[in-house]
Formats: sequence, C-alpha cells, structure tokens
Amino acid sequence: MPKLSFFGAAGAVTGSNFLIETTEHKYVVDCGLFQGSPNLTQFNDDEFSYEPSSVDALIVTHAHLDHIGRIPKLVRDGFRGPIYATQPTIELMSLTLKDAVELMDHRNQRDGKPVIYEEEDVRRTMALCRAVSYKTVQPLNGKDSVTFYDAGHILGSASVLVEADGKQFAFSGDVGHAPNILLPHSETPPTADVVVTEATYGGVEHNDETDREKVLLDAIEWTIQNRGVLLIPAFAIERSQELLYLLNDLFNTRKLPKIPIFFDSPLAIEALEVFEKHGQQFSAQVKEVEKKDPEIFSFRGLVLTPTVENSKDINDQPPPKVIIAGSGMMEGGRIFHHLKRYLSHRNTLLLVIGYQAEGTLGRRIVDGDKEITINGDRIPIRATIKVVDIFSGHADNTDMIEWVKNIKPNSRQQKVFIVHSDPERAKVFQSNLAEELPEAAIDIAQLNQVVEL
Ligand SMILES: [Zn+2]
Repeated sequence: MPKLSFFGAAGAVTGSNFLIETTEHKYVVDCGLFQGSPNLTQFNDDEFSYEPSSVDALIVTHAHLDHIGRIPKLVRDGFRGPIYATQPTIELMSLTLKDAVELMDHRNQRDGKPVIYEEEDVRRTMALCRAVSYKTVQPLNGKDSVTFYDAGHILGSASVLVEADGKQFAFSGDVGHAPNILLPHSETPPTADVVVTEATYGGVEHNDETDREKVLLDAIEWTIQNRGVLLIPAFAIERSQELLYLLNDLFNTRKLPKIPIFFDSPLAIEALEVFEKHGQQFSAQVKEVEKKDPEIFSFRGLVLTPTVENSKDINDQPPPKVIIAGSGMMEGGRIFHHLKRYLSHRNTLLLVIGYQAEGTLGRRIVDGDKEITINGDRIPIRATIKVVDIFSGHADNTDMIEWVKNIKPNSRQQKVFIVHSDPERAKVFQSNLAEELPEAAIDIAQLNQVVEL
C-alpha cells in the first residue's frame, strides 16, 4: 500500500512538498520554498527528508515560489528524474527561479545569508522539465500515472491526480477564485481515494460585490485631482497582468483618463510575453475581447520599464502618474525605490490590492505604521493607504468545499488532508467540510507526517 508524507505546507501556507511512496517508486508533488517568518524559512536550509536521487518523478502544480522554490536544491542534491508541468508553468518557472537566484545572491551580499542553489542548478532543473497538457494521462512508472486539471489560479496552474499502486491521490495545488479575471473556472479530478486540499482561505468568503474597475478608476481620478502618484504594488505573475487587462478594458471603453501608467517590474514584463503566447488558456470571455482587441495587455499611456535606467526615468515624469511595481508584499523589487521616494508625500495614494503576510513591510504599512525604514533611511508615511482585497487569486471557503465535493470517492470513506493553510483557518475549514461530507475522514496534515494508506 502506498504511503503519503507531508514535508511542507502542513500547519502553514508555504513550502508545499508531498511524497508518495509505493514499494517500488517515489513521486514528489511540488517542492516549494518556505516563506514568511524565520521559524519557517529556516527549513529551506535543511536537507530533504527523503533521498532526492531516489525520487522517480517530480510533479509541479504551478509556478509560484512556495510550490517550486526548492526544486533547484532538489536537483543540486541529486534528483535526476523528469519534472512534469504544463508548458506555461515551465516558462514561468524559468523566470521565477532565475529571479529567486538573483534575490538570494542579493541577500547573500547584503547579510551573508548562504544561497541554497545557483543559476547552474536552475539551468539543470529546466533541462529536466517535460510539458504536459491538461486532462491527458501522463504515464509514470508501470501503471502509475499523473493527470493535470486546470486549477484557474495562475496561468498554467493545475490540480493533479496521481495514480500510484492503484490508489488515486488528488492534490488541489492552489485553486483560483471564480470568476477569475483571465482564466476559466477551476476543474476537479473526477475521482480519488485521497484528497489533499489547500485551505488558504478556510472559513473566509471573498467579497465579490466590489467593482474592481471602479476601484481603479477612483484611485486614478484621486491621483489626477491631487496631482499625485498612485503606487500599486503587485505580484509579478498573474496579478500584474490582470491589472493591465483591466486598465486596457477601461481604455477600450473610453473610461481611462489620460495619465501615464508605468509598468515597472522586469519579472512581470518578461511574464507578460508568456501570457501573450498562451492566449488559448484564457477564459471564453477574455478570448471574446481578444477578437476585437488582440493586444489585451497594451494601451496608449502604458510605459514598460524593463531596465534600471528606464525605471529611474519614471522620476522625471511630473505627476500625476501611476506606477505598478513588484514585489507584491513590498519586501523588495522596484516598489522599494518608489515607496522611498513617494510615501512621505501627502498626494501619494498607495493602493494595496494583494495579501500582505505577517512580518512583511507591506503588512506593517497596512497595519498603520507611521514610519518605515528603507535601506537605513527613515520614511514618514504621509501618503493615503487604501486596502482593497478584490484581486484574490485564491479560492475562498465555499469554492474549496465545492472543489472537494466534486471529487467522487472510490470507496465508502474518502480521506481528505488539509494543507496550505494557517492552523486556525485549517480548523474552521475542517469543520465546515465535515458538515458537507459526513462520510469522509478529514484531517489537518502535520509537518513531517507520514500516512500509511
Ligand atoms: Zn499559488
């Protein structure tokens, strides 16, 4: 009988890493970075709990760092098997991992923190990648296989169904919230013996009432009236492209006022090419828009600033202006320079559209700190801070219950493990799910837990 182990994203959101062992084979699903507080990130330096060279295949759900950020370390430590992922995931992964190496090098130079892998390891990682399509059975060893289902979370994202030793394991990966701006609704594997589900927003329901375009328009109009600067920190993958799509729509419908909009994130600009290339992955609604306007991420007034020189030139542009920059939680990247320059101005509006994790600079600003320190400089915060959680890329409580319920059990009692969640949210999700699925055995996975099935 196969065994299932949880070596990450158990009791926390980040570090996804699951191992399926049969008598003959080992398969790993995701190999992500632990992110957030130091008592989590310290695990990134640890050796893997299994021998990387003994793993037959790695299955990757999507290109977020908390799902892929330790793959080059796995390769560095001896993994040589195939890495299965969708084509957009592979392309985004290549960008994100290179970016991760740069970030690690930067931290290494700044405070001597050792790097866990280098560019060469990323190159070797990418050479192991094999593209799979959605809903196509990919053979592994013997009768074992994996099938990918569109998770509607970010471009290329998947939930996966691994069949090993005759048992079916469904892993949610991260599931998107419908209606998604660019992607179609998430799909579920049809059946499973064991379900491993995320519960990032366990017990939480998203508010879909807020009009995203109106939020953007109001912010832009405020900025024009105050001759100020609108800063929008955004995650480079998906969120940044969603923003461009919405702004393009405002432009097409002649609602967008005349104002320069700077897209100041080298990673997001590179990712944009991947998005443009994989238009067939978008929702029917987006494809409809694309028929009339093939350039759905581009409009008059938009300025891409890939180089440092381009980025510095933004300073010369007199306000009003809009700057979209990474990183999403304001922990680094180009947004840093803009915060330093503009956060002390009363005519700056900081529009926070994404989740700000505990311990990040973004969280401190959102929580109302009156002053922050950037590169040793103390910056008083005089800007207006507006927080609108309208761009969630994650399924909420109801979405996830639906997702699990759609997977038919193969036997009377389906086993469900809750991962990728804070402990409190996991507990709430467990009891909510138990009400809907009284027959199922629902557990909250513990870190390093090994389950014999
Ligand atoms: Zn994700």
